[in-house]
Amino acid sequence: MINPWASSSVDYDKLVNQFGIKDFSELVGQIEDPARLMRRGVIFGHRDFDKIVPLINGKKDFTVMTGMMPSGQMHIGHKMVIDQLKWYFKKGASLSLSIADMESYAARGISFEKAKEIAIKEYLVNYIALGLDLTDDKVNVYLQSQNKTLNDLTFKLSKRVNFNNMHAIYGFNESTNIAHLYVPLVQVADILLPQTEEYGGLKQVVVPVGVDQDPHLRLTRDIATKMNEEYGFLAPASTYHRFLTGLTGDKMSSSKPNTAIYLNETPKQAEKKVKSSKTGGRETLDEQKELGGCPDKCVIYEMLVYHLVDDDSEIEKIREECMDGTLMCGHCKVHTAELMKDFFEDLKVKQEESLEIAESLLD
Ligand code: SF4
Repeated sequence: MINPWASSSVDYDKLVNQFGIKDFSELVGQIEDPARLMRRGVIFGHRDFDKIVPLINGKKDFTVMTGMMPSGQMHIGHKMVIDQLKWYFKKGASLSLSIADMESYAARGISFEKAKEIAIKEYLVNYIALGLDLTDDKVNVYLQSQNKTLNDLTFKLSKRVNFNNMHAIYGFNESTNIAHLYVPLVQVADILLPQTEEYGGLKQVVVPVGVDQDPHLRLTRDIATKMNEEYGFLAPASTYHRFLTGLTGDKMSSSKPNTAIYLNETPKQAEKKVKSSKTGGRETLDEQKELGGCPDKCVIYEMLVYHLVDDDSEIEKIREECMDGTLMCGHCKVHTAELMKDFFEDLKVKQEESLEIAESLLD
């Protein structure tokens, strides 16, 4: 069972084989100018993305949906979804962004007022600072608790699901409180919302997620089918990306400061954290020269691939030089830390410029 509220290490191949998630690499060649995370295999799986490819290539309408649960601090791993949203937006998609204040109340006990404040200062600011124009007409940002269409839809679709379904998908039991039981249904409604009349009617929707969110997608697709006669909903497509490994080699987590670089840290702190990250290097320099490093076990290499280097040929060069023992970890770390520092210096300026816009979005 994949559980969206627990962290675990993930066997991506097993997911592709056992849960009906399809291999994304088969589609990459069909996409015009695919995104960096697509080209590099960071997005490894999908459901029904073959229905989205012709819409991208033909510049036709579709919507990308994502949600943010305002609970903690954003870290560099969260940037992956924003990068994808930017790419889709450039391709002509409209965006639907749910601020999951109902989920943060149910899962973390955070009040709606506090969740709104966190959403503005921590999430929306960074979404804007990282390059998304949230003021565009093609972007819909909303708070779950304040969206009546969403809440009506949640109530209606909850008639299509029973406790046994929720137990089978999420492992809920007799002691699960009702808010926790109900909140996944709000997320189902989030995903179906762009297809309601109020939001332009039936259309293809794609949801880019980490694989821990797949239970929501499976539930949504099931409910969309059950509501097909009444609403005509199309089953949403989804893509699945790998998690960014934490700085220590474990999963990156908002609640473990030594695993993550938070987006509100200073350029100096970010630089320092990169320098203290786990590498795929050997015990000694001589060994490294003789055997080469292991980029696939290296947090530094992952930062370069996921976030810091655009040029594919540059990535290939780093990989080759690491594996043939000509690139040493010390040098590689310093270079990566410098890139991260530059990235954070730019981000700080943009964060300051973004606060006013972020505040205006939820007035
Ligand atoms: Fe990682 Fe760079 Fe060392 Fe290779 S040389 S293991 S990519 S830090």
